[in-house]
Amino acid sequence: MPLAVIVHGGAGNIADQEVEPHRRGVESAAQAAWQILTEGGAALDAVQAAILVLEDDPAFDAGTGSFLNRDGQVEMDASIMDGRTLDAGAVAGVQHIKNPILLARQVLASDFTFLIGRGAERFAQECGMPLVANRLLRTREQILNWKEYKANPPGHPEPAYVSPQGTVGCVAVDRHGNVAAGTSTGGTRFKYPGRVGDSPLIGCATYADNQSGGASTTGWGEAITRVVLSKSAVDALARGAKPSQAARDSIEYLARRVGGTGGIIVANPLGHVGFSFNTPRMARAYITEEMPTVLADC
Ligand code: ASP
Repeated sequence: MPLAVIVHGGAGNIADQEVEPHRRGVESAAQAAWQILTEGGAALDAVQAAILVLEDDPAFDAGTGSFLNRDGQVEMDASIMDGRTLDAGAVAGVQHIKNPILLARQVLASDFTFLIGRGAERFAQECGMPLVANRLLRTREQILNWKEYKANPPGHPEPAYVSPQGTVGCVAVDRHGNVAAGTSTGGTRFKYPGRVGDSPLIGCATYADNQSGGASTTGWGEAITRVVLSKSAVDALARGAKPSQAARDSIEYLARRVGGTGGIIVANPLGHVGFSFNTPRMARAYITEEMPTVLADC
């Protein structure tokens, strides 16, 4: 079966000086996932590898470099889904976790599908994942941003929220036609402590089913959640839509039905990919077997 990888690095109002770091980041992430697939690896491992690269890249609002909440703390959300079995794993509101996607993957492999906060952190330790000091995830830049927001709060939820930095996600298809998807975020800037958006919610941000395809979303989580965006796009694939059409239609619906802003990446089991966004920018990168190299843009 034909291989495919598509990655996003957030939809929003990505600042001019952030464009190149975002473009480079999603390109490296797509390359990491592609290498796994071309060596015969599984879609789930490819998705995890791409998201790991982006969580460790401080340009993105995920893992290290996440936005800080009103209390100045990092609180992260992540989800991952295996389209072969429909197993899913998600975590929300976690601190002290360097790579929330790895914890979501541990949840996927367990009897649970979703763990939050302190319970998720305890589970991480039981899985042998070290807890890190939260300050290690807080970058200098995000501390400066937080000070600015504190002096001049952006309000929450922000109407038609457009992020200045990127949440991350990936959809991959492997040689056996297995589809997997994942999403990871630090949430919205200066968010209310305990606020959770779409990113850890299966069906809202992340969905994968070998019978139809996979999707990952980014953008205004309060709006994306209410239209269950990723599952809607995958349902459109099941009805025969091409990934590009499913992506376009779902973002149009998000805007029309709830005035939402955001972006989506989509792939089907035949190795076709598509994306759409209605924000000023969305960082994305993709590669399929019809392409000589990764195409990255922002
Ligand atoms: N969707 C994320 C959230 O609402 C934020 C983003 O994608 O920028 O938490």
